[in-house]
Amino acid sequence: MPKAQAYAVMNPKEPLVPFAVERREPGAHEVLIDILFCGICHSDIHQARDEWGGSTFPMVPGHEIVGKVAKTGDAVGRWKTGDTVGVGCFIDSCRECESCREGEEQFCEVGMNPTYNGFERDGKTPTYGGYSTCMTVDENYLLRIPEGMQLERVAPLLCAGVTTYSPLRRFVSPGDQVAIVGLGGLGHMGVKIAKAMGATVTVLSHSEHKREAALALGADDFIATGAEGAFRENAKRFHFILDTVSAQHDYNLYLELLKRGGTMVLVGIPDPVPLSAVPLVMQRRQLAGSLIGGLRETQEMLDFCAQHNVAADVEVIPIEKVNEAYDRVMKSDVRYRFVIDIASLREKSA
Ligand code: NAP
Ligand code: ZN
Ligand code: ZN
Repeated sequence: MPKAQAYAVMNPKEPLVPFAVERREPGAHEVLIDILFCGICHSDIHQARDEWGGSTFPMVPGHEIVGKVAKTGDAVGRWKTGDTVGVGCFIDSCRECESCREGEEQFCEVGMNPTYNGFERDGKTPTYGGYSTCMTVDENYLLRIPEGMQLERVAPLLCAGVTTYSPLRRFVSPGDQVAIVGLGGLGHMGVKIAKAMGATVTVLSHSEHKREAALALGADDFIATGAEGAFRENAKRFHFILDTVSAQHDYNLYLELLKRGGTMVLVGIPDPVPLSAVPLVMQRRQLAGSLIGGLRETQEMLDFCAQHNVAADVEVIPIEKVNEAYDRVMKSDVRYRFVIDIASLREKSA
């Protein structure tokens, strides 16, 4: 059995610690991958700290995974040893429900199988994520990484990339005024992708700190939402707002920034906040949500990013720094995604 070195959360109040995981030999339609890089998503922290409830432990987080095919099952046709592949937020789904058949596996009506903090299709084998040296995945749930991309900068695309690409592709046309709220892992991908789609992009950040960095990333304008008059002065300015903020904030204020008929999509998942009908009703605005993307759309996003030279801005860390990285994400102190170099885990086992 392939053995993986990993880092796990044993309970929500404690830091991650070294942990060993047994992976299975690839079945006929499965692939064993050696993991090279794994991004740290804020959702890893929400789940590690059980902020959404229902977390299961031990937990090996990580759903922004890039690796190389190490071994293929007998019936695998699509992949060969050495191929560069990605794994995102789920590793399986029922394949039969309406959502699965439409390529929207993330909404599988029976329940998709999350890459970690969940179970395989048997409903009892826990899934362990990408803070580990290898994993066994069904061939149909892998993504192809286009050639020539810097792999540490590609890993975050598997969650942050597709989570922002999906609603932008759905709602944004070239020339639209687009606001990205929150300049973290998701937000900075939102800026890059919206620009590549031809939008005019404004970053809304909770303080002045990231103004220069936002403009350097390609944003056309910047608003510090904490500044006096920020909401009043920008009323009815945007066709579309993508809200990536992980902490509680007043959605009603942001809705007032939409033009008549404009749409705001929530992808950040903070604790609930009260919502008024007034800003929606009075200007026929729309408020929506969006969850990652299906396999087809994730592949489309990877190809789009390769074509437009879009990748994440990352801070690559060895596994030993993972707890420090969690603390820094909580302080919004990351430009813009931590990515674990899994070679540092492999060295531990050598
Ligand atoms: P992140 O890197 O921590 O970025 C979140 C950003 O929110 C921060 O950079 C900060 O931006 C802003 N923020 C944080 N605390 C704030 C506060 N107290 N007040 C106002 N703004 C604050 O997180 P991420 O990985 O991008 O994830 C963002 C959220 O999306 C998380 O809730 C995550 O679970 C969720 N998520 C959802 C999906 C989905 O499919 N819907 C997928 C992945 C992640 P500024 O400093 O610019 O204000
Ligand atoms: Zn994520
Ligand atoms: Zn399904």
